Amino acid sequence: MRKISKIAFVGIVFLAIMVAAPSMVGVAQSFLSNNNINENVENIQEENPDGNYIDQNKEVEEGAEETISEKESEESEEEFEEEINDKVEDNSEEFDSRKKVFLTFDDGPSSLTPEVLEILENNNVKATFFTIGKSVEQKPELVKQTYDEGHMVLPHTYSHKYSIYSSFESYYKDLELAEQAIEDVLDFKIPKILRFPGGSSNHSSFEYGGKQFMPQLTKDIKNKGYYYIDWNVLSGDASFDYDKKDKLISNVINGAKNKDFIVILFHDTARNTAMAEALPEIISELKNQEYAFRTFRDITEEELDKMVELKLANKPIIR
Ligand SMILES: [Zn+2]
Repeated sequence: MRKISKIAFVGIVFLAIMVAAPSMVGVAQSFLSNNNINENVENIQEENPDGNYIDQNKEVEEGAEETISEKESEESEEEFEEEINDKVEDNSEEFDSRKKVFLTFDDGPSSLTPEVLEILENNNVKATFFTIGKSVEQKPELVKQTYDEGHMVLPHTYSHKYSIYSSFESYYKDLELAEQAIEDVLDFKIPKILRFPGGSSNHSSFEYGGKQFMPQLTKDIKNKGYYYIDWNVLSGDASFDYDKKDKLISNVINGAKNKDFIVILFHDTARNTAMAEALPEIISELKNQEYAFRTFRDITEEELDKMVELKLANKPIIR
């Protein structure tokens, strides 16, 4: 009996193990099924029912490692790109959102030019000079110095007579002479950027070419690929207040209020000593207000587009 019961016991245990084993595997599998790797294994097993699971798994693991390392490197590349983008964005934000000022001086060169250049140099800012061709011919060294010190020299007119607005022919002849005068000094082809005498919407042209002259001329010169530049801040240094330093300062500071992209009009003329005196304070205040000082020498496409948008360049004249 004992022997029989022993055999029976062993038999029962054996049977129990046989019965329990598959469900234990099931438990183990269900436990592992929370694991991604096991899911992969299962997927492989499903996809490759007759394959060598171990080898497949090994490949999968290696593959997974590759995938992970690829992913990691992709991620790090992405991060790197992101960093660069951030940097670019930061820079562009810093650059683009930064307030910009273009200091422009018309009607030079003059006996005041050396003083203006010295002030710009001392304050480490660059500017643009829309010059009179006749004076350029008379003071070539000063024009050369202006450019050599990092500023831009562009045409305003050759004669500064409003009779140039009598016909397209007389206007373009004047412009050509003005460009030639600068190019003779600087010895390179200057860009097609200019400032009209009196600005693009001047009334001085009325008595020569008529009321429709500037609307027609501006259209034509734009088609020729030129940018004509106006301003949105007046210093007032060509007005009756030209000799009142404090008035010139307040004109500029008030004019710049709530504007983050400004082109300021100054005049580089012999009588404008008050403007020269005002200049350091104006520059200092604009620096305090975090304006970046820009010129037409290194102006970007983006800045030119912005100028057109703000009607500081190529303003359509409709009358
Ligand atoms: Zn002028």
